[in-house]
Amino acid sequence: MEPTPQTTEPRIALPAAPPGDGPAGRRAGRLRDRAAGRIAAEARAELDWLSGRPDRDPSLDYFVELMARDSSPAALSARLGRKVVALMCLQVPLELFLALDLHPLRLYGGSVAAAASAPPGLPALMCPLLRSLMGGMVGEPSLAGLDWVIPTTCDWISGFEGLASLYFGDLARVRAVELPRRKENPQSAERWLSEVAGLWGYLKRISGRKAGRRDLARAIGDLGRARAALGRLARLRREGRVPGVWFFLITGSFFLDGVSAWGQAASRAADFFAGRPPQTGPGVFLSGSPIVFPNFKILHLLDDLGYAVLGDDMCSGERLIGRHVALKDRSEEGLLAALAESGHEGCLCPVFVENRRRLGPILEAASEADVRGVVFHLLKGCHPYEMDSLALERDLAANGLRFLRLETDYTAEDRGSLSTRLEAFRPTL
Ligand code: SF4
Repeated sequence: MEPTPQTTEPRIALPAAPPGDGPAGRRAGRLRDRAAGRIAAEARAELDWLSGRPDRDPSLDYFVELMARDSSPAALSARLGRKVVALMCLQVPLELFLALDLHPLRLYGGSVAAAASAPPGLPALMCPLLRSLMGGMVGEPSLAGLDWVIPTTCDWISGFEGLASLYFGDLARVRAVELPRRKENPQSAERWLSEVAGLWGYLKRISGRKAGRRDLARAIGDLGRARAALGRLARLRREGRVPGVWFFLITGSFFLDGVSAWGQAASRAADFFAGRPPQTGPGVFLSGSPIVFPNFKILHLLDDLGYAVLGDDMCSGERLIGRHVALKDRSEEGLLAALAESGHEGCLCPVFVENRRRLGPILEAASEADVRGVVFHLLKGCHPYEMDSLALERDLAANGLRFLRLETDYTAEDRGSLSTRLEAFRPTL
């Protein structure tokens, strides 16, 4: 049984006035405390459930404890001894931050309680991840005071700064990074490189550090080792040895510690899973909108029904740090070019004009493992993945793979219908 989701929370109205000593400030303080309490309770319930699983091993304690810790920017910065920068999306190379001893904190909201605490008046069909992030900002107002890096990927992310400013006042400092959406256009690579180089200069300024090729090379090495650990976990998952809930807990904790410590912990977890027997249920591949802790509703349903999740292509899962960086020229400019190219060329996000390449990794997983079908997790309001799912379904059918699109949101009311559809999918595999 999964933990009880908190979906009946009343919508909390955010005060128009900023916090202070007056009545409006006191009310803002009460709203903040209530939202923060509910968000923490939801995360605790999920972690308690995970901790009670029979396959919990001491090697997994690190990830459970990371998720249980205070991850406010101030606490994170004090723990890591680094300035924290808010990041909305993985399009930009993480190595740029690491090379400057900055800590990127990806802000995707996975909390159902936070989504229910979001300010009123937001669009009804808003991306639930960003609605949840808005509610998270009610509980943790200091987020608005960070430096933000916002790649202009989907419309919700591109418009987030404007939406957030309506409720929280202007975000302190925002660096937008413009994404060219036609990869096949020869000018796109050049344009993206200039955006990445511009971000590098910006991050140097806000870090106050003079970094160069040595720092970039060190960051590429550090992230490469973490990538190797995640790759090993992904290969073990192809064999059915890593349950989906643990895999997504591990990837979900990535931004809550230094990359080397996380990579070492991921290696220890891989050692543990290597000795576990493979799951025996029908194997599926997960695609679609990101699954973010603690909203593991779909993972719980798959687990309860005996499916084995053998892979995924989500930016919150296998795609977290999945890009290999091909190094040719080791000058600072050469390293920047390699980082820009690997990020842009290798990205599977469906925000580009042409997205047929999304089929490749699924077919590759199916050739390596007993993947019988694809479960497509579609969050209501996530238009890029919704549009993408139609062509993907057709292409998968042409390759003999079954496809199930599960449209859902951050509520628990659809658990029954989702479960029924997953049960009906099973005999078709
Ligand atoms: S791509 Fe989908 S899930 Fe991701 S931020 Fe945009 S709408 Fe949300």
